[in-house]
Amino acid sequence: MTALVLDGAAIAREVLSELKPRVAVLERKRIRPGLATVLVGNNVASLAYVRNKVRACAEVGVHAEVHELDIDCGEAAIMAEVAALNSNRDIHGIIVQLPLPPGVDAQRVLQSVALEKDVDGFNWCNLGAIVDGHPRLVPCTPLGVITMLERTSVPLEGTHAVVIGRSSIVGKPMALLMISRGATVTVCNSKTPDLGSHTRSADILIAAAGRAKLVTADMVKAGAVVIDVGINRLPDGKLTGDVDYEAVRLKAGAISPVPGGVGRMTVAMLVANTVLAAERAAGVSP
Ligand code: NAD
Repeated sequence: MTALVLDGAAIAREVLSELKPRVAVLERKRIRPGLATVLVGNNVASLAYVRNKVRACAEVGVHAEVHELDIDCGEAAIMAEVAALNSNRDIHGIIVQLPLPPGVDAQRVLQSVALEKDVDGFNWCNLGAIVDGHPRLVPCTPLGVITMLERTSVPLEGTHAVVIGRSSIVGKPMALLMISRGATVTVCNSKTPDLGSHTRSADILIAAAGRAKLVTADMVKAGAVVIDVGINRLPDGKLTGDVDYEAVRLKAGAISPVPGGVGRMTVAMLVANTVLAAERAAGVSP
């Protein structure tokens, strides 16, 4: 069996093109959704991520601006930038690009983003709303995974989903979103003994550990849907996921590639969250 490849790039393009008419409705009210990115320092990976986000915004007519701060500007300067954006009426979404430099309390900065502009969904209130089953702004990567599964008509209700990784921005919200859709969810972490004993019973396996080729073919049930969230850089500079793609695709029923999978969905969901935030600010229903 060769798995169906879940083409994140194609689904992301579909999501972005569906945003255009919503942006047009706002434009008629003289509102242009605006996303501001606070970028501290010049981390090469961060610069590439920010470029992708700006490009995706431009595609659908969302205004995007990048506020670049010096690597040693200090926490107070970052907080001041966020505070100014919180009260800027032309900005509907704010993201603080991670990682922040050592010595800066990243949580304090992230939690200072206004709740209604928190398009990364990292604010504790937005995360808590998912727990309660009433999401407001959902972190882009788990939202991207759910969107990818739903748009590929993968049934979630009644399935056993295994999530590898329990971070607050990927693993935990991912598990909660699956629970709310009726999946039975197992969440594994780096201390889980015998990872394969869990993954082998997964109908849907979501790998978000940040460990290259952690998931091998013997850890996957035949026909399972395998979603690879991981982004790892190999010594030769190439990007790879957490899944041994070439071997697992011969056993899985469906698989998302890296690159061209979840990463593209994440960016599309950020633009979608920004449009949603602008609609809410304008009192327009999506
Ligand atoms: P993190 O380091 O905060 O969390 C990793 C989690 O994986 C931890 O809970 C840890 O316990 C678990 N883990 C690590 N090794 C493990 C192992 N051997 N077995 C089982 N569990 C293990 O990372 P994160 O922010 O959650 O990101 C996870 C991965 O997803 C990274 O590779 C990151 O680059 C990638 N990521 C991708 C996107 C995207 O758009 N595709 C977005 C965010 C993160």
